[in-house]
Amino acid sequence: MDEFTLIRQWTRDLPTRPEVLVPAGDDCAVLRVHGADHDWLFKTDAVVEGVHFTPEAAPERIGHKALARCLSDLAAMGGLPLAAVITIGLPQVDEAARVQKIYAGITELARRYQMAIVGGETTRSPGGLFLSVAVWGWVERGRAILRSGARPGDAIFVTGELGGSAAGKHLDFEPRIREARWLMQHFDIHAMIDLSDGLAGDLRHILQASNVGAELLKRAIPVSRAAKQAALRASSAKPPLVAALTDGEDFELLFTVSSRDAVTLLDAWKQAFPDVRLTCIGKILAEPVLTLRDRNGVEPLTLHGFQHFCPSNSSAFPQS
Ligand SMILES: [Mg+2]
Repeated sequence: MDEFTLIRQWTRDLPTRPEVLVPAGDDCAVLRVHGADHDWLFKTDAVVEGVHFTPEAAPERIGHKALARCLSDLAAMGGLPLAAVITIGLPQVDEAARVQKIYAGITELARRYQMAIVGGETTRSPGGLFLSVAVWGWVERGRAILRSGARPGDAIFVTGELGGSAAGKHLDFEPRIREARWLMQHFDIHAMIDLSDGLAGDLRHILQASNVGAELLKRAIPVSRAAKQAALRASSAKPPLVAALTDGEDFELLFTVSSRDAVTLLDAWKQAFPDVRLTCIGKILAEPVLTLRDRNGVEPLTLHGFQHFCPSNSSAFPQS
């Protein structure tokens, strides 16, 4: 059984309340408390030694990554962060210096987004270092961008470049909060997700939630330099396009807008974010299929993104 089927099973019967607008299953939960002119966003995420970083990774980068992953999910909803609480599990009790550096990475990022760190917990961990971060954020009332809003005919866009994040980006990436806020303020974004499990996997989450399909244009997929270099270095590495479709932890934004807005969006984006690539990579279809088009025609896209609990992923996992 795959990770996402398991998660659906585990979260099926969770208790809820009338204030819960979006329960487990999107990038963040959305709550509306009586009378508020904004909606609250909640998200928790964990990074674990040997899974999300190696023991050699600099503690500042580990702290940065732990918080940045949550901020990337807030960005995917169009939201802004307010505060976070941090739980750290330490393999040894006398690692005070390491914790201080982890917190330095966390606070450096938090300050840049004017968010508060309002509490935490430190515990012993017999199985290696881990960090669990819970973030509280907000979005204007009714404006949270969900995975479920994609419509047939929409253009599909992705920010940045994809694949090869394991070479270093997965520890240092900047969550796309500013870009997401700009997008929701200037355009009618139908659906959005942040890329944590790879384009092929995360696009499927939008398709499933929106009950639609998609066709991607093979030569439009923005392949990162890191993915190309990895392929040059080792013949055993994934071909760059496969890496761009399946590597986890790109933390870019994947979203859909009406195709009528596509040209205006690309033009305005270049003015607003000259250093961040934005690419139209395909379109949303009414039929629930996922296909890849190249100059020879159209083929079904059978590749999947990264999944935890899946042994075939083990060699593809971020290890730097
Ligand atoms: Mg996400």
